[in-house]
Amino acid sequence: MSSSPKSSARRIGIMGGTFDPIHYGHLLAAEESRTVVGLDEVLFVPAGDPAHKRLRRVASCEDRYIMTLLTTLENKNFTPSRIEIDRKEPSHTVDTLREMRHWYAPEKVDFFFITGLDAVLGMTSWKESEELPKLCRIVAVNRPGYPQKALDSLPEALRDAIIPLEIPLLSISSTEIRRRIEERRSIKYLLPETVEQYIYKKGLYRKYWRTSINENSAHSGCTPAGDGRGLRRGGLKSKDLCGA
Ligand code: ATP
Ligand code: MG
Repeated sequence: MSSSPKSSARRIGIMGGTFDPIHYGHLLAAEESRTVVGLDEVLFVPAGDPAHKRLRRVASCEDRYIMTLLTTLENKNFTPSRIEIDRKEPSHTVDTLREMRHWYAPEKVDFFFITGLDAVLGMTSWKESEELPKLCRIVAVNRPGYPQKALDSLPEALRDAIIPLEIPLLSISSTEIRRRIEERRSIKYLLPETVEQYIYKKGLYRKYWRTSINENSAHSGCTPAGDGRGLRRGGLKSKDLCGA
């Protein structure tokens, strides 16, 4: 599979993530990959039941999908995908890539999985990680705290599939955004304004959403938007949750 922009195959980037919430770090990684690697389109794929994030409560699939949709409206080359959130089973990248290759004729498309260095370094623990290089190239963007040199520690087959990409470092994470909301600090300029408004309107990430690990593990799969699950637990009315 070629990484050259001269290939006649359609070049599709896949930006996977929990997107809880989506922020400018994700957007910058996708846009830099699109322009530097030469991609025709970037699909944003929110994870359904993130296999590696079961130790904390995650906003509903629909909320994360809607925030992704709102964000992708701003760029005609970005498209949101429901492929993982519509799947009943936990999300695994290898399954998503296989499904996508099944949809598109494999000879007509080259896939580029876009991911931050923190995630790349954990890839060997992903389901069938040795299959990934057969299905896509991996665009590894740098992220504060993760030097490109760390890629040397990866198995050769995985390393050969990687296109390292230096992007302007943005020290933004979803964890930091959630923490700021709990602490009633501003999240302005860390993520698109439409997403910020959506978070406040739905009352996402307030501290009374905190649940124990046991409760959390009961929350698998996707629930309809605005199912009130988090609100009922705390006995709060929706009006309590509106506004910053
Ligand atoms: P969390 O703090 O909840 O883990 P996150 O900010 O890391 O959230 P994810 O949804 O886990 O966001 O990440 C999706 C992908 O985007 C991962 O490959 C991750 O490395 C990458 N990514 C996230 N933030 C940045 C950033 N600021 N710069 C570059 N890549 C990023
Ligand atoms: Mg992360």
